[in-house]
Order: sequence, then C-alpha cells, then structure tokens
Amino acid sequence: MAGEKSIFKKIIDREIPAEIVYEDELCLAFKDVNPQAPIHVLVIPKQEIQSMAHLEKEDQELAGHLVLTVGKIAEMLGLDNGYRMIVNTGTEGGQTVDHLHLHLLGGRSMQWPPG
Ligand code: IMP
Repeated sequence: MAGEKSIFKKIIDREIPAEIVYEDELCLAFKDVNPQAPIHVLVIPKQEIQSMAHLEKEDQELAGHLVLTVGKIAEMLGLDNGYRMIVNTGTEGGQTVDHLHLHLLGGRSMQWPPG
C-alpha cells in the first residue's frame, strides 16, 4: 500500500527487532531472518530507495559505500575464503522487499547458476 513503511524501514526506525551486525550514518546491516547460508547478512541504505533500478546518478557515492560495506562486513565476519553478494532487483530479479538491499552470503561453497 502506498505510504506504508516497508519492513526494512521499520528495522531502521527500530520499530521491529533485527540482529544488527553493522551500522553507520548511511547504512545498516543485519542478519537475514531466513538465512540461505551459514552467514547471510543484508546491507541496506538508511535512505529509502526502492531497488537498484531506482538508483540515480547522485546516489553514486552511496552505492559505492554499500558495496564497500559488504566487503568490510565479510572481512569482519572472517569470510577469508570468499563470499557472494547478490542484489535481487524487481519482480523477475526475485526482489520481495521494496527497499534496496545487498545480500552477503558466506560460510559455504556457492553453486552457479543461481535459481
Ligand atoms: P529479496 O528476496 O532479495 O527481496 O530479499 C529479501 C530478504 O529479506 C529475504 O532473504 C528475507 O528472508 C529477508 N527478510 C524479510 N523480512 C525480514 C526481517 O524482518 N528481518 C530480516 N530479514 C528479513
């Protein structure tokens, strides 16, 4: 419904709980409630941006920050042998929450191609 807060905005506003692993002025990272790997963290901008497809030129710095934050958290969590970053975008991309989020998956060997 238009105007309704997304679940991730509610997490940002601390209206619902989340296992937060990292936070700074631009973004928040928390454990995915339905983990698809031993480590599954979501990195989201605090700014409400619907998806990757909604990023604008002026979001370039923020977009870079989000990607670098995924790498920083991977290092923090000891994912020295590798990890996967996924950004599901739009209906066919498998996006189910309309607030941009970067998945960080690690702690097991990944398969390719994804489903
Ligand atoms: P998407 O399918 O790429 O949009 O990913 C949405 C992700 O959000 C899924 O992996 C869900 O398990 C996760 N998710 C949904 N609600 C919550 C929540 O309240 N806390 C943490 N993760 C959530």
